[in-house]
Amino acid sequence: MIRDITCIACPLGCEIKVEDTENGYLITGYTCKKGKDYALQEITDPRRILTSTVAVEDGVLKVLPVKTDKAIPKDMLLKCMEEINKIKAKAPIYVGQVIKENILNTGANLVATRNLAKKE
Ligand code: SF4
Repeated sequence: MIRDITCIACPLGCEIKVEDTENGYLITGYTCKKGKDYALQEITDPRRILTSTVAVEDGVLKVLPVKTDKAIPKDMLLKCMEEINKIKAKAPIYVGQVIKENILNTGANLVATRNLAKKE
């Protein structure tokens, strides 16, 4: 079986092919090692940065945009979303502040992507 993967490691967006052969994965179409590594990871352990929002207490806004500070396994995205839905952050909050450490033992922290002041 051959899988087509568009490399997202840089704006060139090389079209990479990964063929599962009896001698292992045959990877072609990449321009650099980054792309080869990306394609291999996408086949063996696909990961994504998760972006979402959490509810906020005492803030000038009711929700805060957040993201994981590193890519997490794709099959953990839904479980992490369920966990994120339980969180209530307390204002004031600063950009980069850790809202949830090591979310569901993925090794990634959930961090704020903006400042959010406390309601006066
Ligand atoms: S393979 Fe290399 S050059 Fe091509 S998109 Fe990926 S990172 Fe960029």
